[in-house]
Amino acid sequence: MSDAFLEKARSFEGRDVGPAEPGADAVNQAMIRHWCEAIGDTNPVYTDPEAARRSVHGGIVAPPVMLQAWVMRGVRPRPAAGGNARDELMAILDAAGFTSVVATDCEQEYHRYLRLGDHLSMTSTIESISDEKKTALGAGHFVTTRSDYHDQQGELVASMRFRILKFKPGERKTGDQPKRPRPAVTQDNAFFFEGARHGQLLIQRCKSCGELRHPPRPMCARCRSLEWDTVEATGRGTLYSFVVNHHPQVPAFDYPLVVGLVQLEEGTRLVSNVIGVDPADVRVGMPLELEMVAFDDELTLPQFHPAPG
Ligand SMILES: [Zn+2]
Repeated sequence: MSDAFLEKARSFEGRDVGPAEPGADAVNQAMIRHWCEAIGDTNPVYTDPEAARRSVHGGIVAPPVMLQAWVMRGVRPRPAAGGNARDELMAILDAAGFTSVVATDCEQEYHRYLRLGDHLSMTSTIESISDEKKTALGAGHFVTTRSDYHDQQGELVASMRFRILKFKPGERKTGDQPKRPRPAVTQDNAFFFEGARHGQLLIQRCKSCGELRHPPRPMCARCRSLEWDTVEATGRGTLYSFVVNHHPQVPAFDYPLVVGLVQLEEGTRLVSNVIGVDPADVRVGMPLELEMVAFDDELTLPQFHPAPG
């Protein structure tokens, strides 16, 4: 890619995206409740005024990871007054052939808990545009934006660094499909992948109170015990939620790809693929059954197909 193009794109580094974007609503109990129900977060400091009053917070607080919800532009965003530097930069990248986009990572930093009535507004700065990088999706540039969230008094309450890849969609090769990406195996989750290799879907269980949990983590959220063992799931469950992924296409997968959130009969949920069914026939609530799939010599993962009957 020409130096002139990159120079033009890089002239956006350090530029503010646009004027501050105020949230449509103040931090409020209704949105917190809906979010907690959707995520399945039962921590009472978010929803129970009495429990919250007795906690270290002294009152209701918002889940920190709800941060972006307070300033989201909505399904039909109001047009930004006076244009937007991010849109201009995207147009430059589009014109150079980097027409596809995928979010790659996000870091958030919380300076304090948000309380009911806080009213946030967000300002964003384009931080950097990378050199051209080769990726599994195609050649592209990483664009990093930093956003700062201020409350109604102008106090900085949180910051976020958000990175996207603007890339040239690669041409799909046929014949030799690359291997599935490897999972990031850690001390906490190694048992899960080891179990899968032996045909077992394992669920982590607290040794102290018996609570089951997934994804794996070191401490029990209910009793704070660090002692745990595992139980083998029966493999029966239902589809709690799903998306059918069409784009962007990573060469290791077949599309359309059904990504499901599976509710196991033991009570925990896991993200997996729903296979052996036309994506158009996938329904929330459908009964599912485990099918261990060996993708290659090293990688076996739990997948789910519709339960017979
Ligand atoms: Zn426990």
